[in-house]
Amino acid sequence: VERTLSIIKPDATKRNLTGAIAKKFEDAGLRIVAAKRIQLTPEQAGKFYEVHKDRPFFGELRDFMASGPVVVQVLEGENAIAKNREVMGATNPKDAAEGTIRKEFAQSVGENSVHGSDAAETAKEEIAFFFSGLELV
Ligand code: ATP
Ligand code: MG
Repeated sequence: VERTLSIIKPDATKRNLTGAIAKKFEDAGLRIVAAKRIQLTPEQAGKFYEVHKDRPFFGELRDFMASGPVVVQVLEGENAIAKNREVMGATNPKDAAEGTIRKEFAQSVGENSVHGSDAAETAKEEIAFFFSGLELV
C-alpha cells in the first residue's frame, strides 16, 4: 500500500468542510492514518510550496495557506497518490470533473480546498514535513 499527504486548505476549514472532504477520501477507499489541525506561518507555508517560488502566484499562495487553520492528513491505500488526486479533481474547479472535491467545494484556482502530493518522492518528503515517525503507525 501507498501513502500520500493531503491538506484541507483554509478556505475549506473556514466553511466547516473538513468532515465532508474526509468522507470523500474514505468513500474512495482511502484510509486516514494520521491527522491534525494546525495553522502555518507564512514562512512555513512558503517552505512547503517552495517548488512554486518562481511562479507569479507564489506570494498569494503562501499567504492564503497561512490565512487560517489547515487539516493535514496522511492517506493510505492502493495507489493512494493517484487516487487522492483523482478524488481532488483538477487544480482549477472550472476544469474539475463532476463529483470531485474541487468541483463541489473549491472557490477558485487558488482557493481550491485541498492539496495532494503529486509523486512518490514528494509524498515521502511532504509526510515527513508534517509528521514525525512517532505519529505514523
Ligand atoms: P496542490 O499542489 O495544491 O495539490 P495542484 O498540484 O493541483 O495543487 P499546482 O500546480 O501544484 O496544482 O499548484 C499548487 C497550488 O497553487 C494550487 O493548488 C493552487 O492553490 C495554487 N495555484 C496554482 N495555479 C494558480 C494560479 N494560476 N493562480 C493562483 N493560484 C494558483
Ligand atoms: Mg501540486
